[in-house]
Amino acid sequence: MKKLSVVLVFVALFSLLAGAAFAGKLEDIKSKGVLVAGVKDSQPPFGYVDENSKQIVGFEIDICKFLADKLGAKLELKPVTSATRIPMLTQGSVDIVAGTMTHKIEREAEIDFSITYFPAEQKLLVKKGGGVNTVADLAGKKVGSAKGSTSEKNIQKAQPKCQVISFDTYPMAFLALKQGKVDAVTTDAPILAGLKANDDKPEMWEITGDFIADEPYGLGLPENDSDFRDFVNASLMEMWRSGEYAKIYDKWFGPKSKCPLELKWKMEIWP
Ligand code: GLU
Repeated sequence: MKKLSVVLVFVALFSLLAGAAFAGKLEDIKSKGVLVAGVKDSQPPFGYVDENSKQIVGFEIDICKFLADKLGAKLELKPVTSATRIPMLTQGSVDIVAGTMTHKIEREAEIDFSITYFPAEQKLLVKKGGGVNTVADLAGKKVGSAKGSTSEKNIQKAQPKCQVISFDTYPMAFLALKQGKVDAVTTDAPILAGLKANDDKPEMWEITGDFIADEPYGLGLPENDSDFRDFVNASLMEMWRSGEYAKIYDKWFGPKSKCPLELKWKMEIWP
């Protein structure tokens, strides 16, 4: 009898553990009641700390909020950098990454992505009248970017004669530009627009540069969890169809926002 109960306890424990290991993210999030999202916290208007509320807010936070509400879960935000976002997702410390992350084929080796939720293009941020206007002008010059980004790689390829200095965050690269330690900052134009718009003297800076790279943003998702990926993709499409996407976009990028950016793009909608 004793032996049988020991065996039963083991069987029960095993099924519990196996269940936990094989349960997908959807069940996992629903059962813990929390969606943990990795977001940027110093990249207005995508994700940044609001001066008054001291909370992380932004376009990508509102997207995550929509997903959390649909799941009936609370939203927990964890700051990530360009370098930490993929490891944090693969280690399970976040369920999803909404952090200006380009859907690159090479990143597919470690994680999955949603459909595109934001189109971007890489550019340069320079001092107005400072003599740098194009990628060609960067020969022999220093360029600031972020560790772990596509931007640092793309610029080195586009201009092998520049020296890339990579920082943990884009505001740090911008500070280096202001201090004259680099001659330009490079990353996606809407991130650069956010840096410029939130500076004390936005008129001093200019977004310039020829075409460097297309950078379509996808939400970072755990590898091989198609139920969760289907849920996220269907939710993004629902956001678009219902007009919720346009509402959120207008809040952060509309004509009355600090960082106006015309919406010239359409989400991929499956019939
Ligand atoms: N979208 C680019 C990337 O995923 C640059 C922006 C960023 O570093 O978050 O690497």
